[in-house]
Amino acid sequence: MELTAPEVWARIQDAVRDAVPDHAFSSWIEGVRAVALTEGELLLEAGNRFKAEWLEDKYGDLLEARGADVVGRRLRITVRGAASPDVFEPPAVRLDPPSAPSEPDPSVTRRSPASQSRLLTARRPGLNERYTFERFVVGPNNQLASAAASAAADKPGRLYNPLVFYGGVGLGKTHLMHALGHRVLQSNPDARVAYVSAEQFLNEMITAIQRGTTAQFRARYREMDLLLLDDVQFLKNKESTQDEFFHTFNALYDSHRQIVLTADRPPRELEGVEERLVSRFDWGLTVDLRPPDLETRIAILRSKAEEEGLELEPDVIECIAHSCTSSVRELEGAVIKLLAVSSVWNQEITPDFARRVLALRRRELEPIKPVASPERIQESIAAGWRVRPESLTAKTRTRTVTEARHVAMYAMRKMLEMPLMEIGRCFGGRDHSTVLYSIRKVERRIELDPDFRARVRQAMQELRELP
Ligand code: ADP
Ligand code: MG
Repeated sequence: MELTAPEVWARIQDAVRDAVPDHAFSSWIEGVRAVALTEGELLLEAGNRFKAEWLEDKYGDLLEARGADVVGRRLRITVRGAASPDVFEPPAVRLDPPSAPSEPDPSVTRRSPASQSRLLTARRPGLNERYTFERFVVGPNNQLASAAASAAADKPGRLYNPLVFYGGVGLGKTHLMHALGHRVLQSNPDARVAYVSAEQFLNEMITAIQRGTTAQFRARYREMDLLLLDDVQFLKNKESTQDEFFHTFNALYDSHRQIVLTADRPPRELEGVEERLVSRFDWGLTVDLRPPDLETRIAILRSKAEEEGLELEPDVIECIAHSCTSSVRELEGAVIKLLAVSSVWNQEITPDFARRVLALRRRELEPIKPVASPERIQESIAAGWRVRPESLTAKTRTRTVTEARHVAMYAMRKMLEMPLMEIGRCFGGRDHSTVLYSIRKVERRIELDPDFRARVRQAMQELRELP
């Protein structure tokens, strides 16, 4: 009698139950489903990819050995992941501690505890307690920005007005902006500070219009000593909000109040933002934040680990720093992932563990590229060069056909990373040295002939965008 996949799996489970520790059995093996059984293979499905890889790696051999006993023949066991791996991001494991108790503020300790908390919130309007200068690691990528922030905090409204930070996501613009706010409040606890994202500014304005409270809205922002407006690129094409901000800007500027702005690109490149605003952004100082270099990434990780009381081996830190290069946010994301996975698996974070988890994470983050098949490449290049697709694989040697053939070979190599031999096979069995010669020829010509280069690029771009 033939056994079904679940039956085979149930027997294998019974057979391994005593061979692995109880907790391992319940965390790795118990909840796994059998999906399909063929002559030589049993396909299992674990909760997610991490679990699947882990199970296959750690217990694959054991399961296959028992599987062979159960079915009486060799049985390959493959485990695939089912759900989104993000189920492994349990909210319990966070890098941010729930807002840490704030440092004693000499000016408020004299007051009663009840009014104290109210005052603290009133004084730190929307500022994240963790975004301080003390927690900001300075490297060559942000040195200028951080120096400017701290100088502006010491002489608000007098040195750089406005102060503009720009740069990509997760590079510390918001952090620096808050740090400046904290510093200003430290030296002048009575300073009126507002932190607001451009989006929030817009929403508040809309609400004020609806409720007929625009006068209060205006007054509120125009009374600030320090206005921190985050992500101004959000004001793109929002004319009336820009207009409102323009007047707020002028009012603050004229009375020497400090204005700090952030944007995802240099002000001059902000599209859909009025020229009169952009030109005002130029009145002060504009500094960029760049992605951190390796040493800075390591320093940031060390400091984060220390802050959070995490023990990360130097090798683990190095491994994370090597694998996450684009932003500080990415570094933090990697640490969170490691913590989450290690807590779920009850596994120590070793360098090897880190490498595996980060490799998986990278794959998850990569967008799924539409992959053109060799046939699609041939068809598309043939069409672009106006030759018949069959001529590419035939012996035809007219100039255009030869050129199209070479380009198609080149595209297959670059886009699909196919072995030369295999490419040759797709072109009526040409040998690998012919293919290599053709590809080299295209490469050389791409270097010398801009028109040709543009044409090949265009053709490959179209292939990438195939549905
Ligand atoms: P942005 O506003 O540029 O998108 P954020 O200021 O939100 O970036 O920074 C993203 C995360 O990285 C925050 O948690 C922040 O604390 C952290 N971060 C950024 N730069 C640094 C740095 N130089 N040192 C320590 N942490 C940093
Ligand atoms: Mg930000």
